[in-house]
Amino acid sequence: MAYDSHARNIDYLRISVTDRCNLRCLYCMPEEGVAWKPHEAMLSLEEIARVVRIAAGEGFKRIRLTGGEPLVRRGIVNLVRDIIATPGIESVAMTTNGILLPEMAASLQAAGLSRVNISLDTLDPAQFTQITRWGAIEDVYAGINSALETGFNPVKINAVVVRSLHQDLLAFARLSLDRPLHVRFIEYMPVGESCGGEGLGWTEADTIPNEELISLIDAQATAAGLGPLIALNASEKPTGWGPARYYHFAGAQGTVGFISALSRHFCEECNRLRLTAEGQLRPCLFSDLEYDLRGALHNGTDEAVRAVLREALSSKPDEHHHQVGTERLMSQIGG
Ligand code: SAM
Ligand code: SF4
Repeated sequence: MAYDSHARNIDYLRISVTDRCNLRCLYCMPEEGVAWKPHEAMLSLEEIARVVRIAAGEGFKRIRLTGGEPLVRRGIVNLVRDIIATPGIESVAMTTNGILLPEMAASLQAAGLSRVNISLDTLDPAQFTQITRWGAIEDVYAGINSALETGFNPVKINAVVVRSLHQDLLAFARLSLDRPLHVRFIEYMPVGESCGGEGLGWTEADTIPNEELISLIDAQATAAGLGPLIALNASEKPTGWGPARYYHFAGAQGTVGFISALSRHFCEECNRLRLTAEGQLRPCLFSDLEYDLRGALHNGTDEAVRAVLREALSSKPDEHHHQVGTERLMSQIGG
């Protein structure tokens, strides 16, 4: 088992397989001018599979593929197949914007993908196009439908809440009523400062602390005759490796979760390392400290790769100490 220097068991690796995307969400990527890394600068699929094999030998059991948009990376289905076939790996999940799921969900499931999280920040079609700069909400709905029809379980919907966007939160919570959808509200985080120019930028005022969000939705739901939100205990939560707190409405098929990286940080439960698309290992989302796994992969033995992995593990900070702002965009880190 892999432990960091704060006695936390670290067995979850989040891998960004590309920094590219078929959308440009306001808070994640500038519309133009992203300095895309050339393909040669990205880890190859073989290199990613090698990292997973070595990490599994160190006690890592769970992998999430993210990005950028993981489904635009050519060969992603084969990568899923290779990862799940790695001895020691128990589960491989994906975070996606869902747009390519209608054509890919079945082959991903056949390859061994365990679960999908689909990102959707608004249910208003015009606002969706505004936030993603050109996306069509019907494409995400089609992605959600295909994930459910293919039999992925649980299917989680991730919504980043930004105060100035005035999203209809109750409408989101209602998604959990009639279908087994697990809606998670995510606190807006200060990642990717360079988005600020012509993107949304991050301000503290735009982050709605989870406690405020929970009481807001609870009040709206109660007024609408749905509420209150009922807290779920550990055995009732949908399968997952993250720190979400879950609730449900009586009789609902799905759940409503809250993820608060800032207002109520969960660093003491942190169980992960992140690997960027270029092969840098990040001990903490909120720190730009990185370890060069790429160099070791190119020139080194498995032992050299293992050494970098151990170094990154042992330098995980105890908590993020409310350090805000990172140089890299979320799409480069792998959100
Ligand atoms: N393209 C995929 C998607 O959108 O799901 C995977 C990559 S995306 C970077 C992963 C998640 O990070 C998405 O749910 C996105 O909403 C979230 N995200 C991006 N920037 C964020 C920010 N500043 N604060 C909180 N979540 C953010
Ligand atoms: Fe693309 Fe996901 Fe970032 Fe939106 S949040 S721009 S879909 S990587």
